[in-house]
Amino acid sequence: MKPLDELVRPNILTMKPYSSARDEFEGEGEVFLDANENPYETGLNRYPDPYQRALKEKIAEIKGIDSQNIFLGNGSDEAIDLIIRIFCEPEKDGIIITDPTYGMYQVSAAIQNITVVRVALSNDFTIAANDVLAAVRDNTKVIFLCSPNNPSGNDLDHEEVLKILKDFHGIVVIDEAYIDFTDQPGFLGELPEFPNLIILQTFSKAWGLAGLRLGMAFTSLEIISLFNKVKPPYNLNILTQNEALHRISNKAEMEKNTREILSEREWLAKELLGLGITVKIHSSSTNFLLVRFDHSDRIFHYLMDQDIIVRDRSRTLHCDGCLRITVGTKDENRKLIEALKSFQQNIKEGKTTIALKK
Ligand SMILES: *Cc1c(COP(=O)(O)O)cnc(C)c1O
Repeated sequence: MKPLDELVRPNILTMKPYSSARDEFEGEGEVFLDANENPYETGLNRYPDPYQRALKEKIAEIKGIDSQNIFLGNGSDEAIDLIIRIFCEPEKDGIIITDPTYGMYQVSAAIQNITVVRVALSNDFTIAANDVLAAVRDNTKVIFLCSPNNPSGNDLDHEEVLKILKDFHGIVVIDEAYIDFTDQPGFLGELPEFPNLIILQTFSKAWGLAGLRLGMAFTSLEIISLFNKVKPPYNLNILTQNEALHRISNKAEMEKNTREILSEREWLAKELLGLGITVKIHSSSTNFLLVRFDHSDRIFHYLMDQDIIVRDRSRTLHCDGCLRITVGTKDENRKLIEALKSFQQNIKEGKTTIALKK
């Protein structure tokens, strides 16, 4: 890895961060007249802990890492945005992403006005470290990898990712939003070895808390201090911190729901394969299936007419004819299969497939 001060934007290195009232005082205060808060109790009249210490302690326990190596953001999307703003100089630097992958890396890069180099995955979505490394330029600051990958659903090969970690001298982000759905170990164990590694996880998927907006980044102390320098001081509100603490104490429920989703995913895959309109189901380590259909366009609109919304990925690289289907409840999954059966029946009977909405 290059020294961090060659990777970080010069202005970020030299800037003085906002110092909040609570930053400057570390003892056990009794009378707080320092932050222009309202003294009357509403349950929310005080600013939250800017470093979310209690929550980080709990997350550290369940992840088996040190709480000092955790950054928490308003969704992982906040972490993605901060990473780009910490390391990438507008109009100068760039990132590498795989194609296809999650859309937010590209969006945050566009906001920062930096270049994005896309490296194609193979047509079964495997990664070749050498292709990624060959795309590195002098201005490449960050490589974003996503494993298991969205929208393809597969784990990236561990050895190929390790090769990128070893041979690239900038920052490597591994987005593990779907880590709770895979039987692969993920990359948390590699953190001590690679100070340039940032792992993202989230409460939005397996934890069932997309509405809470809580994302995690796990990385070296040096990079954590950069996150803390750049983040808005009170980026996680009190409601989010408390609710997350409560949910973590109930981890068994998350695990039960996850098992249910996995068994429903197998059911869905089997049912979909039994339909004559399904061409291929990509293997999934996530809570969704990427499915190639005959007539994916017509199916997408037909389902929409039945008030069933899936994601059309058919214009994405290697995803021709593909819809991305999130695993729902038992009831939702059965509705989907019923709707697809009626679509198939209509096709057989030569009927126009777009039903008119009542
Ligand atoms: C859903 C998802 C996220 C989640 O982002 P949040 O901001 O934490 O909700 C992150 N990365 C990938 C690849 C995703 O699919």
